[in-house]
Amino acid sequence: MKSKVAIAECRTYRQEPAERAIETVLDLLGGWQEFVSPGETILLKPNLLARCEPEKACTTHPQIFAAAARSLQKEGFENLLYGDSPGNHLMGTEQTAEGCGIRQEAEALGIGLADFSKGEKVMYPQGYEADHFVLCSGVRSADAIINLCKMKTHQLERITGAVKNTFGCVYGFNKAASHARFPNADSFAKMIADLNLLVKPRLHIMDGVIAMEGNGPHSGEPMPMYVILASADPVALDSVFCRLVDLDPALVPTNVYGQEYGVGTYEEERIQILTEEGEVSMAEAVSKWGNADFNVERGADFKGQLNAIRFLQPLLDRKPYVKKQLCVGCGICVQACPLEEKAIYLKNGKPAYRYRTCIKCYCCQEMCPEKAIDVKQGRLARLADRNWKV
Ligand code: SF4
Ligand code: SF4
Repeated sequence: MKSKVAIAECRTYRQEPAERAIETVLDLLGGWQEFVSPGETILLKPNLLARCEPEKACTTHPQIFAAAARSLQKEGFENLLYGDSPGNHLMGTEQTAEGCGIRQEAEALGIGLADFSKGEKVMYPQGYEADHFVLCSGVRSADAIINLCKMKTHQLERITGAVKNTFGCVYGFNKAASHARFPNADSFAKMIADLNLLVKPRLHIMDGVIAMEGNGPHSGEPMPMYVILASADPVALDSVFCRLVDLDPALVPTNVYGQEYGVGTYEEERIQILTEEGEVSMAEAVSKWGNADFNVERGADFKGQLNAIRFLQPLLDRKPYVKKQLCVGCGICVQACPLEEKAIYLKNGKPAYRYRTCIKCYCCQEMCPEKAIDVKQGRLARLADRNWKV
């Protein structure tokens, strides 16, 4: 059977069009009753990476959160909670949600905060890459999770969409520690695929009205895509996102391992795209909603080919670096580094890197509130990319 991905156009975050788009994708997928049952405790899990105004396109827009919540309430699903484990654990979920405008919407709708202030170790011996996770209590106690993810770029995995958004189920500092345990894009993606198999959100709804391109997932630029996507298959959903931005889904590790481990499929012929006008082909969806100029990493990945010639690795690595003129010396990047002996430290009030020990997890880049950290490619990779694109 094919994985269904529903697409609805939504050109603004005003309440009425946002609600209409959410209702449309739900209708196309058969309605909420396909995913949740009466009496269940339903956790709405937006992307709350950092305390950012909605206009920055860093987090799920409050109107998309509210539209999904209202739609559930209208259908009689009353046991709703919300939460996500933000990048800055010290700030906490509530304060982060307030800065993103989600707390206000939740309170107006009478939706409480799930318990993201505690974590529980969950053994997962059947995991392919991870044998345990420390999950937020609010995730453990929910009967069903509705994943309200954001359409964004990501410096480690190229994109962050439905599959990657489940990482916010992991409690607090364990997220940073996970970067140390799974230090490259492949092992990290394998762990994320395991996590998806464990927490199994019932439905994934992607806010792609205003997406984030470039230096995501925190410091990129807003880019209108004007779509809401929804699917029970997060890999299929992410692969439609990839196609819309002219990125080969097979280059995204979370797609590759998501498919290999049975989370879903990124193969076009196994995906059915549903719209208000009926079923459409991927090409038709791309011609209607695609943006080939979307700024996302499309370069070929040479890591696998070059394992045998490791001396070239420093020329291939993509390194974080600080744009000193934007840096205010707050030190959040240093706190974000998951290594015991930090690979970033403050020197004369500004961050400096120890590249020899840096594992390229990009947590520092993710958490910088001033967009002062970017990632640059090694010289050889730049050359390789240029050749590949010709
Ligand atoms: S988080 Fe950003 S602004 Fe703060 S010290 Fe690090 S680079 Fe500078
Ligand atoms: S310096 Fe940045 S990229 Fe390197 S390990 Fe630390 S947080 Fe990760």
